[in-house]
Amino acid sequence: KSRFWQQLARARNNFTEGLGDLFLGKKAIDDELLEEVETRLIMADVGQATTRALIDALHQQISRKQINDTEALFETLSQLMIERLERVQKPRPAPTEQPHIIVVCGINGAGKTTTIGKLAHHYKQSGHKVMLAAGDTFRAAAVEQLITWGERNQIPVIGEPGRQDSASVLFDAAQSARARNMDVLIADTAGRLHTQGGLMDELKKLIRVVSKSIPGAPHEILLVLDASIGQNALNQARQFHEAVGVTGLIVTKLDGTAKGGILFAIADELKLPIDFIGVGEQIADLRPFDPKGYVDALLD
Ligand code: GDP
Repeated sequence: KSRFWQQLARARNNFTEGLGDLFLGKKAIDDELLEEVETRLIMADVGQATTRALIDALHQQISRKQINDTEALFETLSQLMIERLERVQKPRPAPTEQPHIIVVCGINGAGKTTTIGKLAHHYKQSGHKVMLAAGDTFRAAAVEQLITWGERNQIPVIGEPGRQDSASVLFDAAQSARARNMDVLIADTAGRLHTQGGLMDELKKLIRVVSKSIPGAPHEILLVLDASIGQNALNQARQFHEAVGVTGLIVTKLDGTAKGGILFAIADELKLPIDFIGVGEQIADLRPFDPKGYVDALLD
């Protein structure tokens, strides 16, 4: 918990330097205090709509005398924040099919390749046989990077630099994963094409190929989002979700940003579960997302 706390220190500071200090030594609740809370939430990128909803809920409870002092205000705020995240969470699907196929998408630079490396580690640690598919054939470096993550995890990678057709890489990988009794196949995909429309068409094609090669697959379509780009992450998520029907999110770079509030805006607007968060560049810096732990780390 303490390392997690440190990793989230920046995201946390933005909230608590404001909130903690605000409440410190103050007993009475006034409009000025509530306005200040609102400003801090907006600054942390919680987003207009979600912030409004939180502040309205606080006002309501204050007028009903359910909140009488700043301590209760703080408690209620953190409870409301936890609830907003929890209501869209779902348990992670267990890899019961062999192979359980996870397609990972996201814009270049979001942290997709790194996240796949960490995710492979996560599954391997829990005793699963894991394979990677280098489906981002549009960027030679992406294939090499994925091969390096494969070596680091000591797991097989299907696809090699120079191969052009990502659909055939994914098809081969699905066949190979089945033949070799893999528990989990994690597939990388392109993160940039000439046009955004082209990228979405490519993704749809890849998903069709995967579903044709293994009935029921892909079992998950995870979208990697960079928290540090704030509200832009929301726009990206909307586009991907519309195009391919994302099943869950992985939000990266929460260690290096003061914009940790974006998770609330994402949960509220997209109603998609956040499966993992990235809190650093190392292989173990991926956490299953726990709303209470997250809010506690932000506000405690
Ligand atoms: P891709 O283009 O989406 O595949 O992105 P990469 O996986 O290459 O990551 C882009 C940069 O972000 C790299 O320098 C990564 O080390 C870094 N990165 C990825 N995830 C995290 C994270 O959770 N925290 C931090 N601080 N850096 C990250």
